[in-house]
Amino acid sequence: MRLDGIKSALLHELLDRAQWSDANHLARSIKALPLRLIAPRPMDEAISTAGGVCLGAGVNQTLRLLAAQPLHQGVFCAGEMLDWEAPTGGYLLTGCLASGAWAGQHALAAWRALPSAAKG
Ligand SMILES: Cc1cc2nc3c(=O)[nH]c(=O)nc-3n(C[C@H](O)[C@H](O)[C@H](O)COP(=O)(O)OP(=O)(O)OC[C@H]3O[C@@H](n4cnc5c(N)ncnc54)[C@H](O)[C@@H]3O)c2cc1C
Repeated sequence: MRLDGIKSALLHELLDRAQWSDANHLARSIKALPLRLIAPRPMDEAISTAGGVCLGAGVNQTLRLLAAQPLHQGVFCAGEMLDWEAPTGGYLLTGCLASGAWAGQHALAAWRALPSAAKG
């Protein structure tokens, strides 16, 4: 039998060196590995986080903030600033890059539409 992928990674994560060397313990672990979920890992280690600015209620179709505060007007959101979730494996980066390009194009168009005096 060959162990690879996630099965192998879990065994390496959860068994120490002594347990790896104990054939009986290793065989038992391969058959039934206790996996206790105690708490989420810290956010610093997260590949992705849920939540963010709501599509629709928080931003318009150009991904510009629907801001009541003058300070936040002209702010565009992209990537994980937005409330969206995708499976890992490239979808997150694709979504971040696509929403960044979309927001960037609309930010440029909004800046171009400003009167010259407001462009600073
Ligand atoms: C270990 C790991 C592996 C991953 N693997 C994959 C994968 O294989 N495929 C995939 O699709 N996705 C993967 N992801 C997810 C992907 O990297 C993220 O979804 C993506 O990078 C998020 O991009 P973002 O621009 O929204 O945010 P971030 O990349 O987090 O960028 C936010 C930036 O803002 C900066 N910042 C934060 N606060 C401030 C502030 N107050 N002022 C100024 N700057 C600030 C930060 O320093 C950071 O540079 C992985 C993530 C991790 C952590």
